[in-house]
Amino acid sequence: MSWETVIGLEIHVQLNTNSKIFSGASTSYGSEQNTNTSLVDLGYPGVLPVLNKDAVMMAIKFGLAIDAEISRRSIFARKNYFYPDLPKGYQISQYELPIVQGGSLEIKLNDGTKKVIGITRAHLEEDAGKSIHDKFNNETAIDLNRAGTPLLEIVSEPDIRSAEEASSYMQQIHQLVRYLKISDGNMQEGSFRCDANVSVRPSGQAEFGTRAEVKNINSFRFVENAINYEVERQIERLENGNEIIQETRLYDPDKDETRPMRSKEEANDYRYFPDPDLLPLEIDQETIDKIKNLLPELFEEKVIRYTEDLKIKPNDAEEIAKNMQIAEYFEATLDHFDNDPQLVTNWILSEVIGVLNRENIEINAFQIEPTQLASLLSRIEDNTISSKIAKNLFNQLLTSDETVDQMIKQQGLEQITDEGSINEYVAEVLNEFSDQKDQYLAGKEQVLGFLVGQVMKRTQGKANPKMVNELIINQIKK
Ligand code: ADP
Ligand code: MG
Repeated sequence: MSWETVIGLEIHVQLNTNSKIFSGASTSYGSEQNTNTSLVDLGYPGVLPVLNKDAVMMAIKFGLAIDAEISRRSIFARKNYFYPDLPKGYQISQYELPIVQGGSLEIKLNDGTKKVIGITRAHLEEDAGKSIHDKFNNETAIDLNRAGTPLLEIVSEPDIRSAEEASSYMQQIHQLVRYLKISDGNMQEGSFRCDANVSVRPSGQAEFGTRAEVKNINSFRFVENAINYEVERQIERLENGNEIIQETRLYDPDKDETRPMRSKEEANDYRYFPDPDLLPLEIDQETIDKIKNLLPELFEEKVIRYTEDLKIKPNDAEEIAKNMQIAEYFEATLDHFDNDPQLVTNWILSEVIGVLNRENIEINAFQIEPTQLASLLSRIEDNTISSKIAKNLFNQLLTSDETVDQMIKQQGLEQITDEGSINEYVAEVLNEFSDQKDQYLAGKEQVLGFLVGQVMKRTQGKANPKMVNELIINQIKK
């Protein structure tokens, strides 16, 4: 019997507002425990939440980018449950009337095919605090810095059919929120995580099977692994005549397995009801139109512009645009050097990204400013230095504050393009290596590379290689 997998993802995106969704406390990561907290986040009685306008703007931005409907009126609800890291005893979320409804995202799979995934809704809510179990012996510590941090929860339709599709969808939502600058998407810090709802059904069956919900997955690889494990587990159970229990499970990356957390039967009844402290959120058309006009250029549009206007190779254009920050670095470099966009592309994809991978850093921590990369590339373009010397300077720029032009001057690196002086070096080399010269004349053209190498060596790499090539041939044939 063959089985079909059905998946729906709930992605939690931390919005990068300066302050929390209902209080003025800071959202900065890594502060001392329990310092980013206000009376509102601590659940003190008698204090009132005030909705953060920036969080609302960000949710609208997201909704517009996925062609969703922005609710002109939405409602905040209390989701009641008791947990030590939730001092109020309820989480403020949106339930019946979320701010974003409907919409879709087109995902691209490894084999190049595309597929549209429906998005049911996206709603605003607050995050809970954090329980720390390994700080004190036999006691749990609570850090409420994260309590009240704004989240956008994006719920997909059960349109996803494989682990690969799920990972691709998650990656594209990640890319989108970074492009929109509504989240830093930092997965290590928990700013981007997802719950995967997974079920299987016999191929051809119309109804969905019973699902399990795998909670709190914070990497693209883990989402694939967790789904693959879950699909195998469910198929095995069904084939052995067992039922699937609707339950919440946890993925353990060390063991590469999912384990039950709690089953839905004994789960809380959240008793959602509208929060009496918060007015319904009303958004006028003017605000929506204003945000629409400010939407940035997104991935697909960027790739088209790079390939059509800048004549970048399609695969390279996608590589650059894949990461919005890299694309910004690329464009900032072009602002200072626009003669040869493909040259800029090549350098970023090989040299710059090479350094990022080697040092395991993001582009915003990269040592070389776009202006410096631009000036390095213009010195290649105007034949002041060779590519080889440019690579050498590139490495020096990683640790130096000097400018490219200062370095070229101080180290005397200007390329030799004067025909007369190159010819002198060529004559010397041909004199010393007359055997190779004869071999070349006898038809063994490979020795040319060796002779060019000798001239380059004598000029410490400074001679223009193309001229060296030509002048050697000229002299040999004379
Ligand atoms: P809940 O709020 O209880 O988690 P929802 O109905 O909001 O339930 O669904 C949450 C997610 O589960 C959505 O992404 C939805 O697409 C997905 N989903 C619902 N039913 C199934 C199913 N049978 N198999 C896989 N995913 C499902
Ligand atoms: Mg859920």
